[in-house]
Amino acid sequence: MVGSNNRIYLSPPHMSGYEQQFVAEAFASNWIAPLGPHVDAFERELAEHVGIAGAVAVSSGTAAIHLALRLLGVGPGDKIFCSSLTFVASANPILYQGAEPVFIDSEPESWNMSPSALERAFRAADNSGKLPKAVIVVNLYGQSADMAPLIAICDRYDVPVIEDAAESLGATYQGKASGALGKFGIYSFNGNKIITTSGGGMLVSNNLEALEKARFWATQARDPARHYQHCEVGHNYRLSNVLAGIGRGQLRLLGERVDRRRSVFRRYYSAFSNVDGIQFMPEALYGRSTRWLTALTIDPHRCGVSAVHIVDALAKENIEARPVWKPLHLQPLFKECDYYTHTIEESVSDRLFETGICLPSGSNMSEDELCRVIDCVRKCLAVG
Ligand SMILES: *Cc1c(COP(=O)(O)O)cnc(C)c1O
Repeated sequence: MVGSNNRIYLSPPHMSGYEQQFVAEAFASNWIAPLGPHVDAFERELAEHVGIAGAVAVSSGTAAIHLALRLLGVGPGDKIFCSSLTFVASANPILYQGAEPVFIDSEPESWNMSPSALERAFRAADNSGKLPKAVIVVNLYGQSADMAPLIAICDRYDVPVIEDAAESLGATYQGKASGALGKFGIYSFNGNKIITTSGGGMLVSNNLEALEKARFWATQARDPARHYQHCEVGHNYRLSNVLAGIGRGQLRLLGERVDRRRSVFRRYYSAFSNVDGIQFMPEALYGRSTRWLTALTIDPHRCGVSAVHIVDALAKENIEARPVWKPLHLQPLFKECDYYTHTIEESVSDRLFETGICLPSGSNMSEDELCRVIDCVRKCLAVG
């Protein structure tokens, strides 16, 4: 409704209409419990979609990262390199395994992991005689990191890459699906992601044997025996058949969702790209971003107003916006951890956090809602 003041969310769920069919099937066959035909089909369909050998559906993206770390044998005393500019869930599973994160800065070109920072971190680790057990590369706000140089560095030290593609399902890197380039990849179907099962995740790999092991751990590590027998610690991480049905319905329209998020970005871009002091998150030439969230930086000196001021002004209009992720090396939780900056002089992720803002980017945003956001931001900029 024009002129209404309904809340505009940052990235709300957007149902396709196919979900209820799949959920009804689950009810009709009484496959309500975890596992079941929708889980198998969702795994198959997602693996096919991203062009990888196999997938394991789990209860969250966080659980998928945890399983990937376990598959790589990560344990107490190990170091794991991880992008700093990300959501805390990228690194929490490192702590679950008793290992120690080392954070890597972003590069300005893609806002993703800086190859030069990674290189310096590796050299320092090599000199100290202790290489990391794995590198978690995060694909931020729908855009793949520059995987080729990052993987080349990791290969030189023979260290495996886990791709945290929670935010980049549907994006590409050099023609390949984002999330399918590392030894393991993970996706999230949390409520705010580009497709959602209300909560859920997926672990993907070309190593089917490893995925079988992950499936075993995720199902309480139950040994094949008549009685309940367990030799290893397990988790209750599997996705329910009902939620997998929602996922199948969501996956059908992933392409449309990507196109719509990109068109939301274009609306913001044409409204603000000429404003002195505003810079949108760049789209690197090596791939196609989903623009899961439209992110931009506001230079307070040139705009006369700061990103947090705009977040607050939007909140007053019942519009949800957020600062860019607070880098993990700045989080109290990780204050003891090492951190490698893009250049010796500059931490890029600090600057992006201080000046960055994410605008509402849902694929179901209406034209009126887009106008409300744009008007409100415009007013803030004019006042400054
Ligand atoms: C959402 C997200 C996760 C966690 O996914 P959940 O399904 O919520 O556990 C991990 N990493 C990144 C970068 C995310 O944005």
